[in-house]
Amino acid sequence: MIKIETLKLDDLALNHYKVIKNYLQNKEGGYSLEEINDKIKSCFGDSLDFKKLILAKPHELEVLSEMYKWKCCKPFNYFKTLYNYLNKYDAIKFYTEEDSKKTPYRAYELVKLLGVQTCPYCNRNTIYNIKNKTKRTSELDHYYPKSKYPFFAISFYNLIPSCKVCNKIKLDNDDKKYINPYDTRFDFNKNMKFGLQIEKSSFYYSENGFNFKYKFDAKISTDEKQRIENNLNDFELKDLYDNHKDIILELIQKAQIYNDSYLDELMQKYEGTLFKNREDLLRLVTCGYVSDEDLHKRPLSKLIKDISEELNLT
Ligand SMILES: [Zn+2]
Repeated sequence: MIKIETLKLDDLALNHYKVIKNYLQNKEGGYSLEEINDKIKSCFGDSLDFKKLILAKPHELEVLSEMYKWKCCKPFNYFKTLYNYLNKYDAIKFYTEEDSKKTPYRAYELVKLLGVQTCPYCNRNTIYNIKNKTKRTSELDHYYPKSKYPFFAISFYNLIPSCKVCNKIKLDNDDKKYINPYDTRFDFNKNMKFGLQIEKSSFYYSENGFNFKYKFDAKISTDEKQRIENNLNDFELKDLYDNHKDIILELIQKAQIYNDSYLDELMQKYEGTLFKNREDLLRLVTCGYVSDEDLHKRPLSKLIKDISEELNLT
């Protein structure tokens, strides 16, 4: 589980809104923007309109979801149609317009613009999209399922780029609270770490010699802890990550080989030629990324980073 962190997130959200608004203003038939706004106001009150609904941040979606669960009427079902347009590769409906140049805007482009390279739910599968529509490796998960919350079907922060496995696994269980990867209220990179549990410390070459566990920060709120546990359990990460104990084993072995003095020696020898800096060297040694904002770049980076820290391989 990793956060979706990009500086341009608000700009991307605004572009998302503009693209859909342009479509609604220029199309013939169906619901007009005015009709949609009227319906939103009649259901949610005057303080909400189409723009605010599309741009609602995760905590705002949460408030609205608790107030209007199951609320459904035809214009909101139309949001599901708009989502289907976004999700299609052919029959393009949405375009980004810049300097009178039109560029298609679909789920394919959205994932690309976000620049997220592994699934934020599992950090295990890559979500790079190739153009062939039948071979897409990413999907857009509706954090709030569109079957129950049709009015969020096209809201930017409800669309989570995810792998096919996680999109399938995620239960449409709205009694449980999870962590939306866009949600800045939670810092699960810091508040939940993978830790090592050594079973047999006499040798390092067997996967039976250790296990991994979840470690929570002592100051974590009960709510955040419960949400993280729901994510970990419902995406079955323990089971999935158990398959990758070989990587942890390699880290244990590397921590023995690449001790501080050996790392210093390598720095003296190769800094500026073979690698840029110490962070670059550690990435080379651990095969993972050290900075939180880079965790999405490689599968299992969060696991690798946390275990490396525990082994002082940082
Ligand atoms: Zn996934």
